[in-house]
Amino acid sequence: MLQLPDHSPLLDLHTARESALAQVTATEAVRDLALSAAMGQVAARDVLALQAMPFFTNAAMDGYALRVTGQVAGPLRLPICGTVAAGEAAPTALDTDTARRIFTGAALPEGADAVVAIEDTREEAGVLLLDTLPKPGNHLRRVGSDQPAGACLLARGTRIAPHHVGLLAANGISRVTVTRQPRVAVLSTGDELAGARRGPGQIHDANRPMLLALAEAAGAVAIDAGTLPDDVEAVAQKLQDLSRNADLVLSSGGVSMGGRDPLRPAFLAAGGEIGAWRVAVKPGKPVMFGRIGRTAFTGLPGNPFAAFVGFQLFAAAQIANLSGRTPAAFAAAQGLANFSWQRRPDRAEVFPVRCTGTDSSGLPRLERLGNGVSATLYPLAAADGLAIVPASTATVAPGDRLAWHPFCAG
Ligand code: AMP
Ligand code: MG
Repeated sequence: MLQLPDHSPLLDLHTARESALAQVTATEAVRDLALSAAMGQVAARDVLALQAMPFFTNAAMDGYALRVTGQVAGPLRLPICGTVAAGEAAPTALDTDTARRIFTGAALPEGADAVVAIEDTREEAGVLLLDTLPKPGNHLRRVGSDQPAGACLLARGTRIAPHHVGLLAANGISRVTVTRQPRVAVLSTGDELAGARRGPGQIHDANRPMLLALAEAAGAVAIDAGTLPDDVEAVAQKLQDLSRNADLVLSSGGVSMGGRDPLRPAFLAAGGEIGAWRVAVKPGKPVMFGRIGRTAFTGLPGNPFAAFVGFQLFAAAQIANLSGRTPAAFAAAQGLANFSWQRRPDRAEVFPVRCTGTDSSGLPRLERLGNGVSATLYPLAAADGLAIVPASTATVAPGDRLAWHPFCAG
């Protein structure tokens, strides 16, 4: 068992993330789901198009189908013979030198090679009048022009989003094989956490509901493991129980080195192996990564904003990995500071930001919220995301580039 000294050097963010990921193994279990139940799940295999699309050549506009090839240039008069509507099984072939009324999505009759849009034509007594001849292929969606047979519609490891549901449905695919969702248990520790009613000196448990919501949003099955007092034996027992059932246990609180912090001793008593702990990030230094048997364990700080940041930095990536997804980088988006800031360059720092418009290059301007207070979630009320500065940053000036992590809109 790796026993880290209490004052081991802080891990840099990259190493910490690698250590977090080293605790989890992607699931190999898969299940077959109806497409209607697959939203948010992770594709276990590539899904390939069975057929080319469109299935048949069809009209891209409401108008008239006609044969352009062989016509002489100049004004044209074609008798309008019949109509072909979307959904019509097999329109009869077009007679030479006639036009047929056609609606968007209707199969192009044999013999036709173009569609003229209704707004580009005139009709007089059942005769179509055209001043100029369209090109062959005009306003047509040709068979196979969108996607070839065998095209990859959904790549393995992709989290299924509404647009994938639409694309698979368009291809007539109604079932999809997905990975098993990771089971993530969430536990709060602290003598000060209130039950149903808050007593004197107590606070409400913010972290457990928040981490359950975050885990679910990240695609996990979230398991509410409740709140425990700062009692080593009780926490150890709970961790042991959870390790039989969960892929990942997330705790918050009690992971620093205060005299009453139960997490580390409880984790060791439960047979846990510490992989790494303490990260050079503000907020969220007291973070611990380990395993109890095959179950990964991440101990997050008690300060709610620090717990939130710790989830975004580490647990989100662990959940992605568990479900067979490649974790997205944290703060991959770019923005521009619209504030001045002097800071002590010792740890990387994550802070809430709000977009206040965009500059001429299209990058969002970011206002820093919260003044560096790590205990409160309140600045998140107005935040659009989190920004991060590296450990070495001492000053931020208006116009400086910032890496940031937008919260998902909608
Ligand atoms: P700890 O990490 O246990 O030392 O806690 C740090 C701070 O976070 C303390 O002020 C705790 O009261 C607070 N805290 C710990 N757990 C929670 C929680 N679940 N919800 C809200 N605040 C918490
Ligand atoms: Mg505590």
